[in-house]
Amino acid sequence: MRRILTSALTVLIAAAMPAAAHAQLPQIPRLPASSSADIQGEINHRLEDARAQVEDFSSQAFPHTAPGKKAPAAPAPKKPQPRSEGGVDCANCVAITYDDGPGAETNRLLDKLKAKNAHASFMVIAPSAEQHPELLKRMKAEGHTIGNHTKSHRQLNTLSYEQVSQEIDAGNAAIKKATGQGTRWVRPPYGATNATVDQVTRDKGVSQALWDVDTVDWKDRNSEHVCSSAVQGARAGSIVLMHDIHPTTVDAADCVIDGLRAKGLEPVSMDRLLRTPVAGKRYYARG
Ligand SMILES: [Zn+2]
Repeated sequence: MRRILTSALTVLIAAAMPAAAHAQLPQIPRLPASSSADIQGEINHRLEDARAQVEDFSSQAFPHTAPGKKAPAAPAPKKPQPRSEGGVDCANCVAITYDDGPGAETNRLLDKLKAKNAHASFMVIAPSAEQHPELLKRMKAEGHTIGNHTKSHRQLNTLSYEQVSQEIDAGNAAIKKATGQGTRWVRPPYGATNATVDQVTRDKGVSQALWDVDTVDWKDRNSEHVCSSAVQGARAGSIVLMHDIHPTTVDAADCVIDGLRAKGLEPVSMDRLLRTPVAGKRYYARG
């Protein structure tokens, strides 16, 4: 058993290394898939968790979009495109999320998602939600997740418990008024959270939807950059941050969806990615 585990780990590590490094390794005998699949699955899962933690730090230290960097063309499809949202366990799912709306571009984005049979999450601000209840109704009817991006987009980590509570309550009330149902998800503006936000969200039974892939789409307003950042940064379980108030981001939606699918990933809603979120928890990705 120990020999199988060691061999499986060696094979996995070798497979995970870049091609150049891999070429320098000695030949390692592969185990039959049937005897090592379970072990490899578990190791894969743990590796993904470790990568997510590294990416949490590196995404803050190293922005994904380098100035002047040329966006590569969308990768060629490698396998048949999934259409079932990742099967029973959603192993290949990625949550694509859009903040700060709804706005003038949101309907166009909903059209694109519908045409591609893809799902997303919309983190709405209360005044905009109150202004466009028809858009929230459409989001819900078409299977997207609606999240609470607060009332006035303040940095929640600078506010008191009571102020955070009011920001969240107002956002939730706007969503409930439009759709008849509240939301399990709060997205703290700027990703600014702290122990107070943890406590308020825990007390309200909602969870924090943060992200591990920041497209920085608000900055250079370049569709190719939005697409390459989203697609290159995403792995199974990722949460991708975008904003549906920018035409360039909406323009990129087809490329994002096609690019993710070409990597074997399926864009889904937050409720699909994380069916039973823990109240108060900060989710940067699944896992
Ligand atoms: Zn925002």
